[in-house]
Amino acid sequence: RRVGVVVIGAGVAGLVAAVVLARRGIDTLVLEAASRARVESRPRAGLLGPAAVDALERNGLADGLRAEGAPHHNCELRHRRRAFVVEYDRHAGGRHHVVYPQQELVADLVAAYLAAGGVIEFGVTDVMLDALTSDHPAVSFVTADGQRQTVESRFIAGCDGHHGVSRGSIPEGALRHIRQRDSAWAWLAVLAAVAPSTDKIIYGVSPRGFAGHMLRDHRTSRFYLQVEATADAADWSAERIWEELHARLAVDADWQLAEGPLLEPPNVIAMDSVFYEPMRFGRLILAGDAARRVPPAAAKGAGLAIVDGETLALAVAAALHDADERPLNAYSEVCLGRAWLAQEASTKLLQLVNVELADPFARRLQDVRLDRLRTSPVAAAEFADHYLSPR
Ligand code: FAD
Repeated sequence: RRVGVVVIGAGVAGLVAAVVLARRGIDTLVLEAASRARVESRPRAGLLGPAAVDALERNGLADGLRAEGAPHHNCELRHRRRAFVVEYDRHAGGRHHVVYPQQELVADLVAAYLAAGGVIEFGVTDVMLDALTSDHPAVSFVTADGQRQTVESRFIAGCDGHHGVSRGSIPEGALRHIRQRDSAWAWLAVLAAVAPSTDKIIYGVSPRGFAGHMLRDHRTSRFYLQVEATADAADWSAERIWEELHARLAVDADWQLAEGPLLEPPNVIAMDSVFYEPMRFGRLILAGDAARRVPPAAAKGAGLAIVDGETLALAVAAALHDADERPLNAYSEVCLGRAWLAQEASTKLLQLVNVELADPFARRLQDVRLDRLRTSPVAAAEFADHYLSPR
């Protein structure tokens, strides 16, 4: 069997790439390890920046997001039990975020891809990539009903996330691994079945460490707690989580944090980042988390994956339809430029909100940064530029 492009992974990067390719008449096969029910119900991201929303709009993929998503124009910081709001859209010409649960976006993208005549094999196992530097790279896999198949293609899109097989199929030494030094902190990610106690994201900076209150939908909230990088999620009972959230988000105002049952076991998320460069090896092109890990601190991962997916598809379409390989040759540099900008935003946000618990010097500087953000329009404009990046 032969197709134009095999896309490995039906996350946001792979599905956006697949829709754009299929709509351009390119025979595309998506291989996904999980079931359709799983990818359409797996909660992860929620906050999407303007570049991602624009990419979805451009490709007619934003109907669900427009109907159900909630625009976000500002966020709240809490520091020394005092709350202040940063209206970042005012400093960014009205550009803002939209909150739309990632699994709902994935469901919309699966539907759009199938409607464009695309084919997805869910539940595949043992995916292997071969002949990546030839004109006809191949992918072999075992289907959900146990049949081994091999498919030849013109290009392979490696969109299988940070732990997928695509990047691992590239020979040792062909990519640079650019890794951040180990961070002392991680975030404990918590998803609870409770309506948000806020209409805007809250970043709480307290003497006990950072706590974040994010929004998902009217029944679901995500929370984060700064924990040591070595923390074990098993040590965090629901009772301990709520106690810590109450303490770290406390404010001298009439505000209550509503509690609800946890929807999944809490998860320790490392704050260390890693980039793999370039994002291409022969006919294998990487997109999204397959090419990097950025911390969820500034909520950039899904947005970058969406825009990578579009850029990849347009570059491959130019190569296949017009024999123009220039967009493909520029692909890695274009995507890396955006991703490093997002990384810088993430680093800045972590410096702003994570508390160096044993370092009074760093904490005094953090006080200054937060006071500047509260009082200086220049600091607020700088925050907005990072928070909404990449453009
Ligand atoms: P993924 O979404 O990981 O998709 C990869 C797909 O490949 C998966 O469906 C997987 O099953 C499949 N796969 C893996 N291995 C194989 C294989 N061998 N064969 C076939 N298929 C395979 N980002 C934001 O922008 N905003 C946020 O608010 C935000 N919040 C987050 C909160 C949490 C708790 C986490 C964990 C992440 C968050 N992120 C956020 C990051 C975001 O979820 C990721 O960056 C995004 O999912 C990356 O998309 P992707 O398509 O590259 O990879």
